[in-house]
Amino acid sequence: MIRNVDKLVDALSAAGLPDADIAGLRPRLTTWRTQLDARRQCLWPKCRRPPIGSHVISQTFLEVIADGGKGLKTPKNPETFTAYPRASRIGSEAPSKASTFPGFCGTHDHKEFAGFENARRLRHLDDYRRQLIRTTTIEWQNRSDLIDLLNFLRKRDSGVSSFFATPGFDARLARTQEHYRQLEQLRLSLHADLSLPSTESGSVAIHTASHESVNGVALSYADFFEAQDIDDGGSVPFPLAIAVVPQRSDPEAATDEPTTRLILGSTDRQALDLYVARHLSSPLRAHDSVMAWLGKGCFSWWINPGKWEAMSSQEQDEIKRGLTRF
Ligand SMILES: [Zn+2]
Repeated sequence: MIRNVDKLVDALSAAGLPDADIAGLRPRLTTWRTQLDARRQCLWPKCRRPPIGSHVISQTFLEVIADGGKGLKTPKNPETFTAYPRASRIGSEAPSKASTFPGFCGTHDHKEFAGFENARRLRHLDDYRRQLIRTTTIEWQNRSDLIDLLNFLRKRDSGVSSFFATPGFDARLARTQEHYRQLEQLRLSLHADLSLPSTESGSVAIHTASHESVNGVALSYADFFEAQDIDDGGSVPFPLAIAVVPQRSDPEAATDEPTTRLILGSTDRQALDLYVARHLSSPLRAHDSVMAWLGKGCFSWWINPGKWEAMSSQEQDEIKRGLTRF
């Protein structure tokens, strides 16, 4: 997500943009960023109200993996990882900022998600759809912001249009636009499926399972994955939305041990089935897959501090490397 202009300038500098150009670009980027925020509207279909800070993963679920009210979350700046572990609060004292993005208006945010937030558990197919709507919407918005930025940078009046008029830049823009379109389809299909009877499978295939092997982690991620390893013959990337949601077990069960629900959704049912069979067929594979998602560049995640400490240094390094992807 394009959170602040300073980070953006750092990335452009690292990409080779000369300092003299950056000096002229910075105030224009600040204006662009302000206007982008001012244009935002609720992302529930057909709503035009201004958005509030919507949760990606509910506070009630994040509290399950907090330790003394604290947990680790994705640092806004990868550099802060050098001082890791740096505890960021996800407890009750600062719940509102734990996992928010400018997604939905207050009315839709409360009306559409209060069901599982109050129940503190995801139980029904529609609950999974609603969680995946949150997951997909933030990633779709990130793509939308990036396209807006790339187009802004190419405009003649940015003062640096020649730097960005390259085949590599065009390819990046085209790829981002294609991913944006596919996430748009996934997002709108999830909304459409909500109108179906709650037991009927819709146009988005959903896989869900509980795995204690991944306790201590929450994440929200949507990206493009290979249904099979490339070695098997170069399969086509397919869109996949993933939510890893910590929960208490059924209150009526004998124990109240935490467990973790994995929810995967895709418009490509066959690819999803292949992916699940290959990567989630056992608790060990599920654990390894969650670690791989964290390392692949997943931007929205939270980890129990003790879980982080228990990870191998190799696993920690993989996650840190994933953070540096722009
Ligand atoms: Zn709304």
